[in-house]
Amino acid sequence: MAGKSSERLWFDCGLLPSGWATGLEITIAGGAIEKISTGVTPPSGAVRGRTVLPGLPNLHSHAFQRAMSGLTEVRGKDQDSFWSWRSLLYRFASRIGPEDIHAITAMAYAEMLEAGFTRVCEFHYLHNAPDGQRYDDPAEMAGQIVRAAEETGIGLTLLPVFYAHSGFGGQPPADGQKRFLSDLEGFAGLLEDVGQHTVNQHDFVLGIAPHSLRAVTPGELKTLLLMDKAGPVHIHIAEQVKEVEDCLAWSGARPVEWLLHNAPVDGRWCLVHATHTNDREIHRIAKSGAVVGLCPVTEANLGDGIFDGRAFVSYGGHYGVGTDSNVSINAADELRMLEYSQRLKGLSRNAMTGAGYASTGRSLFEHALAGGGRAAGIPAGLAPGNPADFVAINAGALPEAEDGGDALLDAWVFRGKSQAISEVWRRGERVVCGGQHVQRPAIEARYKAALRRLLA
Ligand SMILES: [Zn+2]
Repeated sequence: MAGKSSERLWFDCGLLPSGWATGLEITIAGGAIEKISTGVTPPSGAVRGRTVLPGLPNLHSHAFQRAMSGLTEVRGKDQDSFWSWRSLLYRFASRIGPEDIHAITAMAYAEMLEAGFTRVCEFHYLHNAPDGQRYDDPAEMAGQIVRAAEETGIGLTLLPVFYAHSGFGGQPPADGQKRFLSDLEGFAGLLEDVGQHTVNQHDFVLGIAPHSLRAVTPGELKTLLLMDKAGPVHIHIAEQVKEVEDCLAWSGARPVEWLLHNAPVDGRWCLVHATHTNDREIHRIAKSGAVVGLCPVTEANLGDGIFDGRAFVSYGGHYGVGTDSNVSINAADELRMLEYSQRLKGLSRNAMTGAGYASTGRSLFEHALAGGGRAAGIPAGLAPGNPADFVAINAGALPEAEDGGDALLDAWVFRGKSQAISEVWRRGERVVCGGQHVQRPAIEARYKAALRRLLA
């Protein structure tokens, strides 16, 4: 979607990089913020009573998994775990075609915008046709994701996934993984082919995602890093205890320990989950400048475990949040789950409140904004030159915090009221109005038809 040129919007209150300000006039040109003035009296007739917040980046999504939401919550014969969930996922993924991925992804992205996310990092691995053959256009499925992003307006950081093995040390892939597989040459081609689908994208970012140390050998990892020397690099790491045990058996090192020792991990990197890490690893990630991609709702849903967020924040580490499996899509839910899991783990309150913060809601929000932007490869926040991506909360939606400020963020995160966000702008275009994506009816109808096909 193209941004309208030279539009002005007024807000009673807003969160700028310098802190809270009142009487905001935001001038938008060419989809970017041109100017922000404060202390302005709005013209008569301007909408009043809105607080503006920067849109959050969602740093980790597998959009197609949205269609499984609520379908895996039935107890099986044996103990259910990440691994039993993954077998269900593989069976479901085997049925999804290009039309389905477009319909599901558009629904997920519309919901992300409604929930306060204005950009998504899509960790995309469903590349091949159901029989494992490449589509005529190897970027067919990636192209459907780009189409869904264009249709909904969400900013896209696409992370095509390299996946070649089923376990550490280059083990041969399993049958259920055949839709994900590439070799290095095919992957280089895929990165190129994505380009023909992104000509209409304004601030598209392309990165790479070596799937995990299970799926990529050390030699492959090295070659992948030569294919993209500037974009974001995302990797799943240390999500499961079994993964740590297998990595130790293979290399004598823990996954994060191995990665930090063998790859040039820096601010371009996003280590997704990093759940099972010891204090030394957490300290070293913080020092590297890499972002830890926390997906608290999915990690809870899958019974993964709890990252030591309190220690990481105390070391000055960067983090953001992602909706990962998209079992629920809500920025406030992710931030609340993150804080609550730390409270449950550490038996104390206000665990993720960084140095210099009084408000936990504000600390969570600003960390997720900065870390999410870093992981997405875009500048985030309400500042001139940045994409005009922001959300409005109407006075009255959170009556305990009518005066705005930090209390509003605390209420938004902890009160758990859905629909507090009334409007969302992306590149200056209003894509959510009255809490609903402007194209929701058509997107939802197509999504329901896709679900009927897939679950038939
Ligand atoms: Zn993931």
